[in-house]
This record gives sequence, structure tokens and C-alpha cells, in this order.
Amino acid sequence: MKQSKLFTKTQKFAPKDEVSKNAQLLIRAGFVHKEMAGVYSFLPLGLRVIEKIKNIIREELNAIGAVEMEMTALQKSETWEKTGRWDDKIVDDWFKTNLKNGTELGLAFTHEEPLTNIMKSYISSHKDLPKYAYQFQTKFRNELRAKSGVLRGREFLMKDLYNFSLNKKQHEEFYEKMKEVYMRIFTRIGIGDRTFLTMSSGGSFSKYSFEFQTVTDAGEDIIVLDKEKRVSINKSDFSEELLKDFGIDKDKMNFKEVKAAEVGDIYTLGEKYSKALGLTYKDENGEEKNVYMGSYGIGVPRIMGVVTEIFNDEKGIIWPESVAPFRVHLISLNKNEEAEKIYNDLTGKGVEVFYDDRNARPGEKFADSDLIGIPYRVVVSEKSLEKGGVEVKKRDREESKIVKVEELLKNFA
Ligand code: ATP
Ligand code: MG
Repeated sequence: MKQSKLFTKTQKFAPKDEVSKNAQLLIRAGFVHKEMAGVYSFLPLGLRVIEKIKNIIREELNAIGAVEMEMTALQKSETWEKTGRWDDKIVDDWFKTNLKNGTELGLAFTHEEPLTNIMKSYISSHKDLPKYAYQFQTKFRNELRAKSGVLRGREFLMKDLYNFSLNKKQHEEFYEKMKEVYMRIFTRIGIGDRTFLTMSSGGSFSKYSFEFQTVTDAGEDIIVLDKEKRVSINKSDFSEELLKDFGIDKDKMNFKEVKAAEVGDIYTLGEKYSKALGLTYKDENGEEKNVYMGSYGIGVPRIMGVVTEIFNDEKGIIWPESVAPFRVHLISLNKNEEAEKIYNDLTGKGVEVFYDDRNARPGEKFADSDLIGIPYRVVVSEKSLEKGGVEVKKRDREESKIVKVEELLKNFA
């Protein structure tokens, strides 16, 4: 993409009311626009990061046989009344609205109920199970506090997956597999080494559930770490019983308490929703049974925010390659003819290049490049050409080197 075509510009300052670092950086660099507290638009650069994250998740989920779909945000009350979750006293973060005829609708904050309902049309026999379905879909939550930038949106994109299994045993096999899948996803995104499987209370569904918590000062949770076992416990749920149940030796934990952000979670739902909504199947003996379920969430913009919080310096964002909006930031310093050829050659080889073809001062171009945070900066200038090529610098390094153009094309291909 040519930078001259982009409508966004970098900004020296973030909005005064924006207190979170992730949103400050993302707004200044032109990735997101703040509509109001907890409500963000994703601009062209931000959308590319979102798509990178989505694709990593999508690849890992497709690999284990999950299938993608998309459900509606608008929800009718009948479905949710059956599970008791329509009531504002039970679920306090609903956004609700009305049809012209007065019928009340809700904007979905999650999708267990509607998907269980959909599955009633397709699941009837033990031969139909197991099945795994997921979506990337906008959730609406009337969050009380929204001070963590894109980490806590009132409208946000979630990947939510649901499994429909024969029984507890079949569910648990999948549940264990998902723990590994989630760690693979977070590792590919670049936050694996600071993301911990975290035990927490199961809420209304089961005795326990698991979260994936990424250590960052921007997080709203506090976890107690067992670095050796690479697990942690949510401080608010910390108890001797929980330690015992999971075989963790209290003295061996280092307890260290650290701030963390929940990037994903995995729930055993059991028969709660299938029973309430009537999702059953006939087993081999013709006996009617409730489908056994689980649900698995990941907040996509929250991941983007966590990555921003972790990978930055005083100059701006430093994107891990796997989720960077582009791989190369090609900068022309009054050498557009030469740069244009490199741009065409690199993009022709499938390399994602952001090409600064603007008529701007070198200092401005470099400052923008550092703020935007693309992993490789390639500068084409009179000076670099005199030295025999282009100047290549990694965003997180100080030193740069001159690389011949042919070599550059070979290295990035
Ligand atoms: P939290 O405890 O942070 O409020 P939650 O446990 O209520 O989150 P879930 O319903 O479990 O959230 O949602 C699944 C995932 O969606 C979470 O693990 C998190 O990554 C993400 N998520 C939840 N709420 C938000 C939000 N308001 N903005 C962005 N991402 C969110
Ligand atoms: Mg959760």
C-alpha cells in the first residue's frame, strides 16, 4: 500500500480523555479512532492487524475440524428467557432496543443460546456428534468501566467457538485439545511466553474454568504465578481448595502477584444450555440424551491492545512480525523512481510493503515509521544508493545496514 493513498495521518497527541497506553499509541499511529469511551473504529492499518490475528486463530481452529459461521447480533427474548439470561438482574450488561411495534430485542453479548437453538435443526443422532462451530462476531456489552482502551470495548469483535459433544468424556478430550490450540495461537501472535493457563472459579457453569492471562501492567486482573508449571491462579479465586484440586504445591509457587489481561477463556457448559433449549440426540439404543457443550472465547481487539502494551518504546509500537500490518516499511527519500521499482518487485513476490511515497521531510517519515512500528524499515536515499543499495533496519534495533537491492529481494521473498 502506498502511504500517500492512506487517509489516516499520525498525530502528536492522543485525545485528552484517553488514559490507556494501548489506545493512545493506536490512535496516534492511526490504527483506531475513538468514537466514545469503549467504542473504537478500526482504521485501515488497524484492520490489517485485526485480520492478521483473525487468520492465525482461523488457521488453528480449522486445523482441528472447527467450522466458521456468523450469527446475528439482534436477538429475540424467547431464546434467552429459557435459560434465564434475558433478565437484566441476571445479566447486567445487555444492550436492549425495540422494534417499531414495541417488541424488545437484545444485542448479543455472547451466543450460547442462539447457537444451541440453531443446532436443534441439525443435531438429532449420536452420529451427528461431535461438532465444533465458531465465529468472529461483534459483541455488545454495556460495560460499567471502559478505561482500558481496546482491551475493554462496549462493542468488540470476539472469536467464540462452541463444541457439541456426546458426553463429558468426549467433551473433555476436546477441552484439553483447546488448551493446546490456545497456547499455539498466543505463541504465534508473540505473547506465548507471558501467557499463562489460569485457573478460576467456573461461575454458574461448573466448579472451575480456565482463562488465558497475559502478564501486562495494563491488565485488570491479578494472577498468582507458578512459573515452573507455567500455570497461574486468578487472585480473586485463590483458595487452598483450588490449589489442592490442581495439585499445586503452595510453597513451590514463587505466588508472585502480577497484573494480567484475560486474552481468552474456555468453559465447560455441560448440559445447561442443551437442557434448557431442548438440544438432544438419540444414542445407539435410541435413548434421548442432552448434548454436552463447551464455549471458548478470545477477544480480538483485546489481543491487539495487549500486543501494543507489551511491544513498544518511547517512539511507538513494535509489532511482532506475525500480526504487523505490513512486513516492510519502504521509505523513499526523494528517490521515488528507484523506490517504486523495489515496491513493485517486493509486492510482486508477495511481500506486504507499506511504501512511504509522500513528499515529506526525512525526520517526519522516520518518526511516523517508528510510531507505526512495522518490523523492517527499508530506506532508499541518495546516500544509500551511493553506498550500493538500500538501508535496512529492524524496528527494535539501533543498527542498520546497507543491502544490495537484489539481496533485499532474495531475503524477503
Ligand atoms: P472480563 O473478565 O475481562 O470482563 P469476561 O470473562 O467477561 O471478560 P468472556 O465473556 O469470557 O469475557 O469473553 C471471552 C473473551 O472476550 C475474554 O477472554 C476476553 O479476551 C474478551 N473480552 C471480554 N470482554 C471484552 C471487552 N469488553 N472488550 C474486549 N474484549 C473482551
Ligand atoms: Mg472470561
